[in-house]
Amino acid sequence: MGLLAGKKTLVTGASKGIGRSIALKFAKEGADVAFTYLSSVEQAQALEEELAAFGGQVLAVRSDASDFEAAQGLIAESLKAFGTLDVLVNNAGITKDNLLMRMSEEDFDRVLKVNLNSIFNTTKAVIRPMMKQKAGSIINISSVVGVKGNAGQANYAASKAGIIGFTKSTALELGSRNIRCNALAPGFIETEMTDRLDEATVQGWRDGIPMKRGGSPDEVADACVFLASDMSTYISGQVLNVCGAMLT
Ligand code: NAD
Repeated sequence: MGLLAGKKTLVTGASKGIGRSIALKFAKEGADVAFTYLSSVEQAQALEEELAAFGGQVLAVRSDASDFEAAQGLIAESLKAFGTLDVLVNNAGITKDNLLMRMSEEDFDRVLKVNLNSIFNTTKAVIRPMMKQKAGSIINISSVVGVKGNAGQANYAASKAGIIGFTKSTALELGSRNIRCNALAPGFIETEMTDRLDEATVQGWRDGIPMKRGGSPDEVADACVFLASDMSTYISGQVLNVCGAMLT
C-alpha cells in the first residue's frame, strides 16, 4: 500500500515543474489528486491522463491562485469531488526578477499576490473542513531565498519569507486541531525553465552547491510525500530545506 493511500490531496500550479512531480508522486503513492493550472491547458490534460493511470480519482481545475474568490471555489469543487481534503500543497509561484533600482511596483505586487496571497486564499478556505475532520497537512513551497535573501529577487525573497511566517503562524494556530503546516525550501532545482538557460551559467550555479549539482523536481516531491504522509505526524511549523547543503 502506498504512503498516501486514501488521502485526498490538492496541489496548486501542477502543470509543470515541481508541482507536476508532486502530483505524480502523490498519485503513485495512492492519493486522489486535485490539481490546478493556469494557462498550460494541453500540459494539464496530459497530466490528468497520467495521474488517472495510477487508479485514483483526479480533478483538474483551471484556477488563478492569486484570486481569492477563485480559491474559495477551487476548495469547494475539490471537496465536492472528494468529500474531504487531507493535504493541501501550495506550490504555484512566479518570479519577476530585477534589481531594486529597476523593479516596478507592478512586478513587486504581482509576485507577492501570486506567491503569498495565494497561500492565504487557499489556506483560509481549507481550514474549516480540516478543523471539522480534526486532521490535515498543509505544505507551502517557499525557497532558500526566503531564508537567505537574494540580490535581484527582493520581491520573490519577500514573498518566500512571508510564506515562512505564515506557515509557522498557521501551525501555532491550528496545532490543537491536529492540522499540521510546514514549508519546503528548495534550493536550485533544475526544471524545463533552467534547461533553457545558458549551460555555463547553470554550471556555475551547480559548482557553488556543496553537493555539486542542482536538485530534481522529484527530490522536492519526495520531501513533500513525507510531509503529506503519516510518516511525519509530529512535524509541524518547520521549514525543510531541500538544497544539497546550499543553506545550512
Ligand atoms: P514552474 O514555473 O515550472 O511552475 C510554476 C507553476 O505555477 C506552473 O505550473 C504555473 O502554471 C503555476 N502558476 C503560476 N502562476 C499561477 C497562478 N497565478 N495561478 C495558478 N498557477 C500558477 O516553476 P517551479 O520551478 O516548478 O516552481 C514551483 C514552486 O517551487 C514555486 O513556488 C517556486 O517559487 C518554488 N521554487 C522553485 C525553485 C527552483 O529552483 N525551480 C527553487 C525554490 C522554490
